[in-house]
Amino acid sequence: MMKTPMPEQAPELRRNNFGEVALGYTPEQAAAEASRCLNCKKRPCVAGCPVGVAIPEFITEIKNGDIAKAAAIIKETNALPAVCGRVCPQENQCERLCVRAVKGEPVAIGRLERYAADGGQITDNRGQITDNGKRIAVVGSGPAGLSCAGTLAGLGYDVTVFEAFHEPGGVLIYGIPEFRLPKEIVRREVGELKALGVSIITNAVVGQALTIDDLFDDGYDAVFIGSGAGLPSFMGIPGENLNGVFSANEFLTRVNLMKAYDARSDTPVKDLKKVVVVGGGNVAMDAARCALRLGAETVDIVYRRGMEEMPARREEIHHAREEGINFRVLTNPREILGDEKFNVRAVVCDAMELGEPDASGRRRPVVKEGAGFTLDADCVIMAIGSAPNALIRNSTPDLDFDRRGCVAAAEDGRTNRPMVYAGGDAVTGAATVILAMGAGRAAAIAIDDQLSKNK
Ligand code: FAD
Ligand code: SF4
Repeated sequence: MMKTPMPEQAPELRRNNFGEVALGYTPEQAAAEASRCLNCKKRPCVAGCPVGVAIPEFITEIKNGDIAKAAAIIKETNALPAVCGRVCPQENQCERLCVRAVKGEPVAIGRLERYAADGGQITDNRGQITDNGKRIAVVGSGPAGLSCAGTLAGLGYDVTVFEAFHEPGGVLIYGIPEFRLPKEIVRREVGELKALGVSIITNAVVGQALTIDDLFDDGYDAVFIGSGAGLPSFMGIPGENLNGVFSANEFLTRVNLMKAYDARSDTPVKDLKKVVVVGGGNVAMDAARCALRLGAETVDIVYRRGMEEMPARREEIHHAREEGINFRVLTNPREILGDEKFNVRAVVCDAMELGEPDASGRRRPVVKEGAGFTLDADCVIMAIGSAPNALIRNSTPDLDFDRRGCVAAAEDGRTNRPMVYAGGDAVTGAATVILAMGAGRAAAIAIDDQLSKNK
């Protein structure tokens, strides 16, 4: 039996607007999909969820028609359910372990989570929480920081989040585009955390005027570092400094936070005609699909391995294809060429083939001699990965980092410094929303454990 399909904007329409692609289930569709859940005693799906959402229980409430209760069950362990219902790779997590998947398609757990979260009311549990007199500082307001903050606030801690940008949400606000994750959805869920008592201070960069040591001097009992991995990587090829070459991070931030899609904005992206996006992950898909919506005539995704090896979610690749993005796999840029004004004019590419597996287990791409070619382009977007920025590292010399510049932390977020915890992309390097949230929640529980012992 198949999943109930998700209603979507038609590709020829949506490629011209930033409105949401997936439109959400109607009550009838949600009821039909919920009825596919077998309410299994062993709950294998729950083991696949990094924050342990009580999946069969919330689906049962959808079957009963009690959306508010379904949403409340999810929120017991997931601070951002409307976000997760939209962007989590459920196919690799809860849905991968669903018994329905043995003979057919799994229950569409993510779509049902979105339905419940969108329909549920804003909960205000503050009256039920007793203040325990302890203060926690959280660095960064992405999914890791927000999940840690929400869990600790629910346990009675006075939590303050310090965020470098002018708006909280991390990649959810400045990275993932509006057509996959409307910013109003993120704002609503951040608003719920504020209603729970979490304070968020924006434009507050930890590592400059304020350091982690200052936070302890100010009387915080513990610090959680959830500062992400926002420093973009480049290939190191000739021509990367030409006008018209962006990191995906800068391009998406301009589009999302600075409204580059609006010609009246102060920092528009220049007129795009022929765009080449380098990379094969979700970030590359998002950058390519934004470029298309900004009016580019052609958008080519250039990826050095094959379609099978692409790390992006299948759904995103499918949507990008439907919208008219070209995929040039087994292709790697060798040089970017400019005109006399130092504007990009073309990308010289190598054709690749796959050799023996490398350390990651994936077959290594090798250059196919004599098969190179040139692609015309006026914009090149590099989406080949990112790493943590060095601010915290440089300002906290006694904290341990690994050789990639990530904070060295145990599974429960503990670092080498007492009462300093860390989680999310700052520890793992670029990963996923739900893994960051799981890490934030695990650290919150460990902080509570430790502070309860210290009493
Ligand atoms: P972030 O979300 O990066 O948040 C870190 C926050 O800390 C930021 O707000 C930053 O401004 C702030 N900060 C950094 N340094 C400091 C400092 N010194 N002081 C104060 N604040 C600081 N994952 C999915 O699961 N599904 C997807 O579909 C998906 N799509 C993605 C698309 C894009 C374009 C990108 C870039 C990522 C995507 N991801 C996706 C990955 C996912 O968004 C990240 O893994 C996740 O956001 C990591 O959460 P985090 O809280 O660790 O870090
Ligand atoms: Fe329902 Fe699938 Fe979980 Fe069983 S494994 S309870 S069918 S969602």
